[in-house]
Amino acid sequence: MDELSTRLDELRDLGLYRRLRLVSGPQGPRVVLDGTPVLLLCSNNYLGLSDHPRIREAAADAAMRWGVGAGASRLVSGSMTIHGRLEERLARFKGTEGALLFGSGYLANFGVIQALGDRSSMIFSDELNHASIVEGCRAAKAPVFVYRHNDLEHLAWGLREKTPRNAGRPLIVTDSVFSMDGDIAPLEGIADLAQRFDARTIVDEAHATGCIGPNGRGAVAAAGLEQEIDAIVGTLGKALGAYGAFVAGSNELMRYLVNAARPLIFSTAPAPPIVAGALAALELLEQSPERVERLQANARTLHGALQAEGFAMPDDPSHILPIMVGDATTTMNVTESLLERRVFAQGIRPPTVPEGTSRLRVTVSASHTPQELRKAAQAIAEVARAHGLDVGEGPKRPSMTNAREDDLGEWSAAPSRNGAAQPEAGRKASSSAFFDVEQIDPGMVRARRTSPQFGLRG
Ligand code: PMP
Repeated sequence: MDELSTRLDELRDLGLYRRLRLVSGPQGPRVVLDGTPVLLLCSNNYLGLSDHPRIREAAADAAMRWGVGAGASRLVSGSMTIHGRLEERLARFKGTEGALLFGSGYLANFGVIQALGDRSSMIFSDELNHASIVEGCRAAKAPVFVYRHNDLEHLAWGLREKTPRNAGRPLIVTDSVFSMDGDIAPLEGIADLAQRFDARTIVDEAHATGCIGPNGRGAVAAAGLEQEIDAIVGTLGKALGAYGAFVAGSNELMRYLVNAARPLIFSTAPAPPIVAGALAALELLEQSPERVERLQANARTLHGALQAEGFAMPDDPSHILPIMVGDATTTMNVTESLLERRVFAQGIRPPTVPEGTSRLRVTVSASHTPQELRKAAQAIAEVARAHGLDVGEGPKRPSMTNAREDDLGEWSAAPSRNGAAQPEAGRKASSSAFFDVEQIDPGMVRARRTSPQFGLRG
C-alpha cells in the first residue's frame, strides 16, 4: 500500500496525477461538472446525440423489449437480432460487405490487430496511434515497426527494409483522424503502399465516423477507399452518442474475426439498449446529415477565433483542436483556471501524448453555438496569457476580466435539450515520442523506452 501512495505522490510531483470529475445530468454542450455549470469543450459527443430524445427512447424501448444485458458472449447465446440489424446498417453506412460489433473501440482495435497480426506477418503502426492500437500490437504475435507520424517515406522504407524475409502479408495500422492532434492520415498514400507491398490495412475511424466525409461516413469514404482498406474500425460512443464499436470489411474478414478476435470471443455481447440507441443515432445521422456540416462549421469558427487570439493552430482544422502548452503542470493549471471561468477544456499529458507536448485538447460539438465558441476562445487566450504562455496580443477589445458573470449567466442558463439547465447537480505534436523499436529476438521487434523517433504511444 505504501508503495502505491509513493507512486501517487510521484505522479503528483510530475504534474501527472489524474482524478475523476463527475457530471450531473446528461451530456451536452454545457454540463454540470462537480456541481458547477460549465461550457464543455472536451467531449467526443461531437454531434450532440447522446441525450437526443429519439435515441433515449430507442434505448428505453429496447430495454423493455430485449432486456438490459445480452447475457453471454456473441459466440454463445449473446447474439441477438438487434446486433444483426445494427451490423447490417453499419456495413451499408461504411460501404463494406459486413460489420461486426465489439464492446468498445479499445476492444475492437485490440481484437482486429491481435487477430490479423499473426506470427508470420509484420505490423507497421503510426507513432501517434491510439493506445488501444498500441495494446493490439503488443498482443499480436507479429513484430512491430513504428513509423514516424504520417510519414509515408518512413513507412515505405520500413516496408522495404524491415519486413523479414519469407514473412506473410504486412499489416499497416493507422488512426484516420488522430485523437489528440485532430490531423488526418494520408490514407491514399497508405493504400498505395499497401498495394505495392501487398499489405493489409486497418484504419481506426473513431474520431472520423459521424464527423467527416460524405454524410459523416468517415475519412476512408471521403477518400473513396472503402474497397481498398481491409478493416475499418468505428466507434459508437463518440459522434454516435452511445457506446461500443465495430469493425467493417469483407464478409470473409468478419468470419475470421468471429473465430480469432479474443475480445469478441471471450467478452459479453454489447447490451441491447446501447445497440438500439446506436442504431437510432445512425438513422438520425442518415436523415439529417446537416449535423455534420454544423460540426464542421463550428470547428472552423473555433479554429478562426483561436487563431485570431494569436494561437498557432493547425492549417487544416478538424473538430479536435490541440492548443499546445508543453509542460504538464502548466497545462493542468490552465485547465483549472479555465474551470474558474466555467470553461472545461481538459489538459492532456503523458503518457497520452509524448513528453513535452502536453496540451489542451479542445473539441467542438454540432450543438455549440458560434457565439459561445468565440467567447470560449477569448477566455482560453486570457487564461493562457495569465499563465505566461506565448499567445500574442489577440484582437483589440475591452478586457474580459469583468465579463465573468456574463459568461457564467449565459452558459449556465442555456437550456439542455430536455429543457432544464441541469441544476441538479496548434500545432502538430513533435514526434518526440517515447519508445524505440528494438530487435529482441530474431524476427521480433518490440517497443522500448527512449528514442524520439520511433515512438509507440502508451
Ligand atoms: N480509437 C481512438 C482513436 C480513440 O480515441 C479511442 C477512445 N478515445 C478509441 C479508439 C477507443 O474507443 P472506445 O472509447 O469506444 O473504447
